[in-house]
Amino acid sequence: MKRSVFIFAALLAAGLVAGSATAATLVHNVSGYTMDGPEVVTFSALEFDDGKVTRLYSRESDARQSTATERIDGKGVTLLPGLIDAHGHITRHGRALASVDLVNVGSETAAVQRVADFLSAEPADGPWLWGRGWNQVLWPGKQFPTRQSLDDISADVAVVLRRVDGHAIWVNSRALEVAGIVDDTPDPPGGQIIRDEQGKATGVLIDNAMNLVLNAMPSDSDEQIAAYQARALRDLAANGLTSVHDAGVSAQHVRAYRSLLKAGEMPVRVYAMLAALDPANDTNLAAGPTVDAAHMLSVRSVKISADGALGSRGAALFEDYSDKPGHRGLLLLTDEELKHHMSRAVAAGFQVNTHAIGDLTNDRVLVNYEMLNQEEASRALRHRVEHAQILRPQDVSRFASAGLVASIQPTHATSDKNMAVDRLGEERLEAAYAWSTLLDSGAQLAGGSDFPVEFANPFYGLHAAVTRQSHDNQPEGGWFPGQKLSREASLSLFTQDAAFAAHQEKVIGRLLPGYYADFILVSDNYFDQPEDAIWKNRVLATFVAGRRVYSAEQE
Ligand SMILES: [Zn+2]
Repeated sequence: MKRSVFIFAALLAAGLVAGSATAATLVHNVSGYTMDGPEVVTFSALEFDDGKVTRLYSRESDARQSTATERIDGKGVTLLPGLIDAHGHITRHGRALASVDLVNVGSETAAVQRVADFLSAEPADGPWLWGRGWNQVLWPGKQFPTRQSLDDISADVAVVLRRVDGHAIWVNSRALEVAGIVDDTPDPPGGQIIRDEQGKATGVLIDNAMNLVLNAMPSDSDEQIAAYQARALRDLAANGLTSVHDAGVSAQHVRAYRSLLKAGEMPVRVYAMLAALDPANDTNLAAGPTVDAAHMLSVRSVKISADGALGSRGAALFEDYSDKPGHRGLLLLTDEELKHHMSRAVAAGFQVNTHAIGDLTNDRVLVNYEMLNQEEASRALRHRVEHAQILRPQDVSRFASAGLVASIQPTHATSDKNMAVDRLGEERLEAAYAWSTLLDSGAQLAGGSDFPVEFANPFYGLHAAVTRQSHDNQPEGGWFPGQKLSREASLSLFTQDAAFAAHQEKVIGRLLPGYYADFILVSDNYFDQPEDAIWKNRVLATFVAGRRVYSAEQE
């Protein structure tokens, strides 16, 4: 810790606080790494000009040849390509940063206490209060919570608390009342109002039933959305991310991004996937794919959600849930609807990224992609399956043969491991969270976190991919250790692979001449440090196109 503070004082003195990159800059005295396909390239100095890498120097002595006028002495720290998260939810992350955080809370009582503390410290500025991150699986008894416990602390403010996976909300009676939910309100298609023995709504709403409440909430202004996004992007830069794929944006979100881009307030690149179900996105589809000259904002893909999540038993399975006989989850779209949304996007020249968690859903999505990709023009769009989490063993090879990207989240394996055994039993785990099996099958992968469902810190993802262990090194040897990836393959997931999945492999994801100078300086050497310490790596500074967008020193 002291060492890096010292280094940063020196870096600042050396003129690290760069504004725009107009003169050539040399970052020297670093342990530099980049992937170049399967190879790891090492270097001790990196030169960039006008936002792009101009040269790498393998030895410090060679770097003296550089004519760069700006020089940054890295004092031996590690330099990596900027990390890319191929699947996150930026606006939700910004909102999460501005609401009650219930991640890892150990009981319903503790969650209620957290909400009460938030209300007393920061009174809700409207009639609604947001929170997120609860997970009853971590609680004694593992029961869903009820509205009554929230009613005890808030009768006037409508409290809406999203489950950690985003597929359920827990609300108080006031929220049910405002939403007009009464005892005989029917379950909407694709959703469920959880009820007690008397048939009364308990305050937990699953999947499409969440909309009954969410639609009753006042909508955010474009300015509010942009403020959430800006807050999130600053946080992502601090986590060492230089580009993020936003998995499902409304037309309003796109407007907000465009306003940030225009104002020069996007510290991190965004690859936005248009939410297929927002009718207002029709205009964005009609406009065709758009990427600005500096590659800060790409709008050339569509996000479709085909099922829910495993934790809330929304993922659609071929067979019953092991811990809930008779229940197989929910497909959110009919085959016709799936086909309709996919072909509409392809006709407009957009990549299609479909959320599929359950094995049934993955099969349905693969079938549709396989049909589309008989056309070379469709295949060239590099369609993706977001999550590709639970597969039948025979379905693994279909990704490579149909030319699809499996967009995976390594931390889901380590966060879900106990719950997944409960939901699926051991047998179905053979091809679940099977990153190595997918890679060996020749599938193109991309790595992400699914923040704010998981932490945005990409070193958590690298650690999970390499070790298949939680931060306390459980289970010993790793969870399904055959699915571990090498450090090189793991870094690829979050750099060149994620770039490929966004059609950006020629501009970002590698530090080679001609690529944008998107890089990070970190506290420890990712390639040398013990495996179990990878998640502890700290970001010291983040650069996008040669511009410093984060420095630990200034926090
Ligand atoms: Zn997601």
